[in-house]
Amino acid sequence: MTLKDSDWFSEPCKEGGSAFSLAIQEKLHDEQTDYQRIEIYSTTRFGNLMVIDGFVMLTSRDNFLYHEMMSHPALFSHPDPRRAVIIGGGDCGTLREVLKHPGVEHVLQVEIDERVTRLSERFFPELCASNTDPRAEFYFGDGIRWMKEAAAGSVDIIIVDSTDPIGPAEGLFTEAFYRDCHRVLGDTGVLVQQSESPLYHYDSIIQPMHDAMRAAGFADSVSLMFPQPCYPSGWWSATLAGNRDVRRFREQDAQQKPFTTRYYNAAIHQGALAQPEFFSK
Ligand code: SAM
Repeated sequence: MTLKDSDWFSEPCKEGGSAFSLAIQEKLHDEQTDYQRIEIYSTTRFGNLMVIDGFVMLTSRDNFLYHEMMSHPALFSHPDPRRAVIIGGGDCGTLREVLKHPGVEHVLQVEIDERVTRLSERFFPELCASNTDPRAEFYFGDGIRWMKEAAAGSVDIIIVDSTDPIGPAEGLFTEAFYRDCHRVLGDTGVLVQQSESPLYHYDSIIQPMHDAMRAAGFADSVSLMFPQPCYPSGWWSATLAGNRDVRRFREQDAQQKPFTTRYYNAAIHQGALAQPEFFSK
């Protein structure tokens, strides 16, 4: 089949001098919300595609890599995670993974833009399959403000599943925000945040994120690496922070997890903790 230019969705990445393209079948939706522009496409091989302000958010085909790595390592790094908060994550894929842990009693998703969740229910219903779980709660508002107002020690796990550090997500990458997270987490609490590409964003995002997390009071932090084909460079990271050694996790519980995953397992967790030579931390 010969594809015309118009059959491709492309996301250029300025800092990488690269672009990622997907062959598309049709545009299914296009909407300017109060916060951002959301586009949904169907693709030839990656299922449905969600784009926010021109940046790929997720595809049906490869989102499991990201959602599993944003949730299970953090949950298995905590001795007994019961209360979780997701900042952003409106597509509900991370929520679905967190709810797979039987010990979790409550998960609050704090998403600024309700339209992301409504469109995900329509175009990515498999990610929203657990939205009716009685342990799930939805709050549509700003995660930065929510964290400022939350009570000290009221949460075990904070997952920052946000867009890139521009627009409404900019303040989610700051020391002030991490200081609020540190206060809201109990002594054993774990924070995890998506931290972009090790290849393209080590100096600009990953290293400054570690510095800001430590400055905010976290005793330890480490970045986990995993493949993510639809994001710039195809190589992505999530950064964990906590007051204890965040390289340690409940390995036996991860080996015997009572739920299925497509990517995550104890060996993947261990492997994702291996640091490239160019990382100084
Ligand atoms: N996996 C994606 C990625 O890394 O490209 C992120 C997916 S999720 C759709 C990101 C969500 O963060 C968006 O729905 C956006 O509305 C939300 N978001 C951005 N800034 C926010 C804020 N300050 N508070 C709460 N949610 C926010």
